[in-house]
Amino acid sequence: MDSLILDDNIMEEIRLGQKLPIVERFITISGEAPTMGQPMYLVRFSGCNLSCRYCDTPYRNEINETLTPAQLCDEIDRVMVSYPGIIILFTGGEPLLKPRSTIVTDIAKRLPDVQFYVETNGSVPIDEAAPDNLHYVLDWKTPSAGGGETFCIDNIRRMRTDHDVIKFVTDESDLPYIKKKIEMIRRENELVRVYLSPQTGRIELTKLADFILSNKLNAAISVQLHKIIWGEKRGV
Ligand code: SF4
Repeated sequence: MDSLILDDNIMEEIRLGQKLPIVERFITISGEAPTMGQPMYLVRFSGCNLSCRYCDTPYRNEINETLTPAQLCDEIDRVMVSYPGIIILFTGGEPLLKPRSTIVTDIAKRLPDVQFYVETNGSVPIDEAAPDNLHYVLDWKTPSAGGGETFCIDNIRRMRTDHDVIKFVTDESDLPYIKKKIEMIRRENELVRVYLSPQTGRIELTKLADFILSNKLNAAISVQLHKIIWGEKRGV
């Protein structure tokens, strides 16, 4: 990829949503729920409104490429031809930062035969009228992330049981907090899928399993499969 010169014009196009700022994009194996293990085309958008203590993408604000929404659709079309049936993941940073939220919905509507997953930090409202081929993975930030309560509570109501999931990335100290939040989620929605993803080296899997079973929680463990396969490497 040629290096990109970010002049004022490009920054204005990004601000207006005419161009999408992209850190990187590549084909890989999905590492996390609900698509864990599946081949996917990952598009990492630049920029994030949070700064979590354990963030594993310190390069989240890099802009290495910009594409118009139409160009990104063309790129996805090209990938679908070369790798039929592959799923698309929009991640970040935060892929739903304004004005990207509506652009993401528009792209999914323009490509109805493609399955899109959006990994969001949950702090911005998801589209409750999203098309059937658009799925949200909402990462509910816990106390160990720092930054306080950032989750947009209205997203619990906006989530579609068959499409969207909540994930908690947890260490041992987060468990009491997560129990309360899962109980809250269950009061609103008994069936929406909830995943617990252990922070590397911060909680034993046996501890997490015991926590789920002893509290009779309707939640699943999600390990970061891509790190098991390739280790802590960028671009996989
Ligand atoms: S929301 Fe995600 S990308 Fe943003 S700082 Fe937190 S972990 Fe990093």
